[in-house]
Amino acid sequence: MTTFQIQGMHCASCAVIIEKAIAKEPGVEHVSASYASESVRIAFDSAVTTPKKLSSVIEKFGYTLVTVDEVPETAPVDTHLAKERSMLTVILPIVALSAALMTWEVLSRDLGWLPNMSVVVEEFMHHLMPILATVVLVLAGRPYLAGVGRFVRHGMANMDTLIGIGTVTAFLYSFTVSAFEGPLAPYLDTSVAYYDVTIIVIGLVSLGKYLEARSKQKTGEAVRALIGLQAKTALVIREDREVEIPIGEVRIGDILIVKPGEKIPVDGVILTGTTTIDESMLTGESLPVDKVVGATVVGATLNKQGSITYRASAVGSDTVLAQIIRMVGEAQASRAPIQALADRVSAVFVPMVLGIALLALLTWLIVGIPILGTSAALSYGLLSFVGVLVIACPCALGLATPTAIIVGVGKAAQQGILVKDAEQLERLSNVRTIVFDKTGTVTKGVPEVVDVVMLSTTMDEAHALTLAASVEHDSEHPLAQAIIKRATMHTSVFPPVSQFEALPGVGVTGVVDGVRVAVKKPEGVDSDTRIRTLEDQGKTVVVVTAEGTPIALIALSDTVKEEAKQAVHDLIAQGIQVVMLTGDNARAAQYIAHEVGITTVIAEVLPHQKAEKIRALQKNGAHVAMVGDGINDAPALAVADVGIAMATGTDVAMASAGITLLHGDLRRVVQSIHIAHATMRTVKQNLFWAFAYNVIGIPIAAGLLYPWFGVVLNPVFAGAAMALSSVSVVVNSLRLKTLRV
Ligand code: ADP
Ligand code: MG
Repeated sequence: MTTFQIQGMHCASCAVIIEKAIAKEPGVEHVSASYASESVRIAFDSAVTTPKKLSSVIEKFGYTLVTVDEVPETAPVDTHLAKERSMLTVILPIVALSAALMTWEVLSRDLGWLPNMSVVVEEFMHHLMPILATVVLVLAGRPYLAGVGRFVRHGMANMDTLIGIGTVTAFLYSFTVSAFEGPLAPYLDTSVAYYDVTIIVIGLVSLGKYLEARSKQKTGEAVRALIGLQAKTALVIREDREVEIPIGEVRIGDILIVKPGEKIPVDGVILTGTTTIDESMLTGESLPVDKVVGATVVGATLNKQGSITYRASAVGSDTVLAQIIRMVGEAQASRAPIQALADRVSAVFVPMVLGIALLALLTWLIVGIPILGTSAALSYGLLSFVGVLVIACPCALGLATPTAIIVGVGKAAQQGILVKDAEQLERLSNVRTIVFDKTGTVTKGVPEVVDVVMLSTTMDEAHALTLAASVEHDSEHPLAQAIIKRATMHTSVFPPVSQFEALPGVGVTGVVDGVRVAVKKPEGVDSDTRIRTLEDQGKTVVVVTAEGTPIALIALSDTVKEEAKQAVHDLIAQGIQVVMLTGDNARAAQYIAHEVGITTVIAEVLPHQKAEKIRALQKNGAHVAMVGDGINDAPALAVADVGIAMATGTDVAMASAGITLLHGDLRRVVQSIHIAHATMRTVKQNLFWAFAYNVIGIPIAAGLLYPWFGVVLNPVFAGAAMALSSVSVVVNSLRLKTLRV
């Protein structure tokens, strides 16, 4: 799946046109376009087609694909918006003049509240209006005229087509009655022209589009802020001299110097110096992190008080920041399942509206002429035709979901919560059960050896620990680190291990000094009261055996994270069931669970069984989220409705996780759910209003109120309503930015 930016998108139905055109191309497996992020995601067979070919198929409709390989060094400035603004400064005064004249006319002629315009002024305006309408069509009408052209040539219609057909019809009708005033006078009221409709509708729709584009840009601010985090230059050592180079020229292996108060340019590993680094811009964690030699530093974070030199380990599009930007961008462009209905409606929307508009016109003519006479029926029919075309707005429908998703995903990213795609956010909002892994998730994952109980009478503690530590040397498990650390209190030489084997969820074995040593979780525990007593104190006990004979018990203890209790409490307060799932023994698990307020514990589960346990929880129909460390919990994370992984170090994009927390703070889980709820609530509000607006607006514009109230909506109000509808959807989504998490 590749994400491309698209140039030339002006409305939601453009996405439908682009999808249809690209989907027809051979080699394309999947395509989904988003108007809100002006991008398209395409899965294609690169042996059959190329981005260039794909771009050429949409170019004839006025769009181009732009590949985004690299993170741009600065956020792009929108020249399109600037052009729109200068265009608006010309046409808005014309719109204001037309609106004023129209109001005067209504107030004087229809209501008699104002004196009639003097004949001279009226006559002058009569001739000025066609010129002004032409000016507006030329300056601002291009997308709508092009929409009509596209419809005529390719049969492709979008919102621009609707506005185009409506305004051009109003213009041509008006032009015809002004040009053939004499011959038409017996049949029609030739004094009524609709140039003002053309002017005001195009003006308001353009203004609406401009406001919408401006707000839409704001929805993407989170990513722009991330891009802006990058340092512009880096101080590197080249040929024994310090030189300042643009960040794009830093290569892997370069030695960089960072002084106090400066940004870390790219990712790397510290060679000299110690410091503290503020990583809050990426992880959302406000406490600075201590860094010593050998620690990894991440580009875009802020070096506080120390001076360091470090070796660059990732540059360009491989840095953590670049990965985050890519991930957030892709998530924002992805489609939430809830959007499906709006998409289906959008796809048939334009032809449907064209049909309704024609039907309204015909009904006015057929039913209206015998009752109202030709002139009035034609004029109402025309107003209805134009009104329906103008008020119909697939834009609001198209923007409802993605704008909220963009803001929600961006909001999450600011807290160090990376969402893989929109679907994850939607699913997270439905989660009723959250399963926490114990080690490293609820606990800090840095266990310490607290007791060593000798079982062998011939061996001393130092020897037993040395054997155990030697085997653990090749293990990545946190328990292994603790055992090695304890053993180094006795010795610094560890005999090498051969035939090492890690048994996931059980322990490790290997041969040390010719002796087969195993460090494993106890079997048949209940028989040994010494083990039980230690476990009742929340300790994890492992048994060290030599040639199958137990020689020692090692008891380890891990502290729970400070915020764990609060997080669990907040989740339960929201009516969410909280479960702890662990490979550790039941008693220790129970102890830890009790400490943080979790009542449901599933213990002594082997890693491969964790996924099954999740499935069992899902059986009752509950949507289950699993929170784990992403490495040995990967299968469980993948099976859960939403997998939430705690990122470790520089590994950002967790393949099996729908949501990645850049910092291990459990309150992030609560925040994720909070953001998911708020986002989906906004989506639903938007969809409701977008649908309601069309369902109510179209019949009114078609003249359905006339039989009862004798009013026909002037298309000018249809234009205003249309402009307002999509702006209001975007503004509603933007409110999410102020969400307190
Ligand atoms: P958790 O589900 O808490 O993350 P694991 O599935 O990683 O736990 O491990 C379960 C149990 O297996 C541990 O509590 C420990 O008893 C044993 N174990 C796993 N790996 C090791 C190891 N490297 N050394 C000793 N014991 C281990
Ligand atoms: Mg674990």
